[in-house]
Amino acid sequence: MESKSFKVGDIVKMKKPHPCGSYEWEILRTGMDFGIKCCGCGHFVMLARPKFEKAVKAVVTPDTEK
Ligand SMILES: [Zn+2]
Repeated sequence: MESKSFKVGDIVKMKKPHPCGSYEWEILRTGMDFGIKCCGCGHFVMLARPKFEKAVKAVVTPDTEK
C-alpha cells in the first residue's frame, strides 16, 4: 500500500463536497487525527486518519511550497 504523506498547510481535494459546495480543505493538524478547514466556508473538523485518507481524492498543494 502506498502511504501518502500529508503535512500542515496542504490543500486536499475531497471525494464529496462540503454542503457549502467546496471540495477543498486545508490541513491544520496531522497525527492520529487530522484537523481540516473547509476552504469554502472555513468550517473546521477533526477526522481520524483512516477516515481522512478515505475521504481525500487528491492533494492539490502548489509546488511552490517545496
Ligand atoms: Zn464548507
